[in-house]
Amino acid sequence: MKIGFIGLGNMGAPMASNLAKAGHDVVGFDIANQPPAGVNAAKTVTEAATDMDVVITMLPNGAILRSVADQVIPAMRQGATLLDCSTVDVESARAVADKAQAGGLMAVDAPVSGGIGGAAAGTLTFMAGGTDEGFASVAPLFDVMGQKAVHCGPSGNGQAAKICNNMILGVTMIGTCEAFALADKLGLDRQKMFDVVSTSSGYSWTMNAYCPAPGVGPQSPADNDYQPGFAADLMLKDLRLSQQAAEASDADTPMGARATELYAQFVEEEDGAGRDFSAMLPRFVSRRRH
Ligand code: NAD
Repeated sequence: MKIGFIGLGNMGAPMASNLAKAGHDVVGFDIANQPPAGVNAAKTVTEAATDMDVVITMLPNGAILRSVADQVIPAMRQGATLLDCSTVDVESARAVADKAQAGGLMAVDAPVSGGIGGAAAGTLTFMAGGTDEGFASVAPLFDVMGQKAVHCGPSGNGQAAKICNNMILGVTMIGTCEAFALADKLGLDRQKMFDVVSTSSGYSWTMNAYCPAPGVGPQSPADNDYQPGFAADLMLKDLRLSQQAAEASDADTPMGARATELYAQFVEEEDGAGRDFSAMLPRFVSRRRH
């Protein structure tokens, strides 16, 4: 396929590279970064959209996605697909899809889970929103960039699935960290805590696969002085998206709201900016009950 790839950052560059390695003709554009080897450089954003079968966007947020989409949609050929893989608010995803469809295109929102490691290894999970036809048009690309793609329903539902997943992730990480901090104060060895919880009803991905305690469980950012991994700032972004969506849909999400407050405090008032989101553990350990 002829693919335009817009947004060649930490995630976009390895995803574009994997598509090129699989034999697709990939043209990339980014305002700051050069394309990786195997991906041709477009001089303008419209050049990366003209005559393409699929245009993929991997951008920081909904406002940037909307402005890029306004330039890209008129340049794309009728019947082509606009595939957005960024994590953005549900409203922006639906607005961009409406504009794309009005312009004679198919639109799919397909945010990802799996992080930079998954992007490089081609093992991402995609959660997609759009029509059956739209989903089918990009399914072969999901197979190259990832290991699983779930069609979650109409436009915006991919973003809905992503922010619900990440709200659980934020809440669970905080629960895991505060429990480790309590265990410390009770004199319980961290390895014993891991051995029990990872095989008991308190187990979770944050405990079993991404343990916030260094030296315990499989390798995780905790073993690398909490270098991200998945930065606390990005966790905060996703939690805020969950709260924006909860507000708009009148959903009661008290744990999500509290997790958002705690990550905001950690990133904006404490030392959490630029650290992995599991660095909540040393934060809790250093605090007293109040
Ligand atoms: P990044 O900041 O590394 O990359 C974004 C890229 O977009 C940058 O290279 C930037 O120069 C480019 N860009 C910004 N404005 C642009 C414009 N107008 N035109 C063209 N390019 C433009 O971010 P990332 O880590 O690659 O994340 C991208 C998206 O994926 C985000 O929505 C993020 O929430 C989501 N995501 C990230 C991770 C992760 O672990 N990093 C995991 C899952 C989802």
